[in-house]
Amino acid sequence: MSRIVIALGGNALGDTAREQQSRIEKAAPALVGLIKQGHEIIISHGNGPQVGMIKLAFDKASETDPSIDDLELPECTAMSQGYIGFHLQKGLYRQLRREGMPWHVATVITQMEVDARDPAFQNPTKPIGVFYTREQAQALSREHPEMVFREDAGRGWRQVVASPLPRDIVEKDSILNLLDDEFIVIACGGGGIPVVKDKEGNYTSVPAVIDKDFASAKLAEMVDADYLFILTAVDRVAIDYGKPQQRELEKMSVKEARRYAGEGHFAPGSMLPKIQAAVAFAESKKGRRAIIASLEKAPLAMRGESGTEIYLN
Ligand code: ADP
Ligand code: MG
Repeated sequence: MSRIVIALGGNALGDTAREQQSRIEKAAPALVGLIKQGHEIIISHGNGPQVGMIKLAFDKASETDPSIDDLELPECTAMSQGYIGFHLQKGLYRQLRREGMPWHVATVITQMEVDARDPAFQNPTKPIGVFYTREQAQALSREHPEMVFREDAGRGWRQVVASPLPRDIVEKDSILNLLDDEFIVIACGGGGIPVVKDKEGNYTSVPAVIDKDFASAKLAEMVDADYLFILTAVDRVAIDYGKPQQRELEKMSVKEARRYAGEGHFAPGSMLPKIQAAVAFAESKKGRRAIIASLEKAPLAMRGESGTEIYLN
């Protein structure tokens, strides 16, 4: 029996709630299939499109109706963890019932501790929410000096937030207890809600975005997983991605992964963080393996017939 952390890509979950539900229903047999093979699964997921939609909805609504709050990012992230967790619980329960398996599923709204001195806070890079004109962005940053705005590829001005590294999972004991009680746990959605700890040990949420691939590697280390599965929209990692000479990889050693990354084969913000997370996990303890595969082909990837395995050489 292996313990497997499965990181579902936010993009692989589709663009609307309806699409998300049907994709999860399609993926449920594969996820439950892993449990039937005797494995223990822990699920984490991205939330890029989902949290973007929530933020946009509140931004737009508060523009037209001042009684509606323009909700802060940590609350938007918590909401996305809630409804994605809801769909996963629903989809998994349905499949478990079909298979006559009396398993329990629980979503843990997860806070992730980040370091207030993380250099990422000096250089916010992640655009979020609506587009503004230059004048609107200037007015907003006068009103809220802590907010940073950048021009986004000729499309207008957007708020940018920091993407700090995950340090510690605040709800780790809850997660471990649920695993001990044989729950299927869904945690660290969207990379977790970023919080910083003050001198008294209290947590305060910060408007930032933690990379879900890094958070999933952290979760996998914390629960002492054997495998980290990063499921996304492509079947395999490729070198020369998108070029005529593109080549898909079945296996890649940590050393090769570093070399390819250095040669620029993996796009920053999409494939590169997956590779970095996979390398960090594979290196964290002997025998740990990371697999990057597509959501549809996860069962094949488990048998080594799809996906890219990253291993320590
Ligand atoms: P997720 O929502 O799962 O995190 P991302 O869109 O962030 O998905 O990252 C996955 C995407 O990375 C793929 O769909 C693909 O378009 C892109 N990509 C960039 N470089 C590569 C590469 N070298 N091999 C495969 N896919 C790549
Ligand atoms: Mg991504």
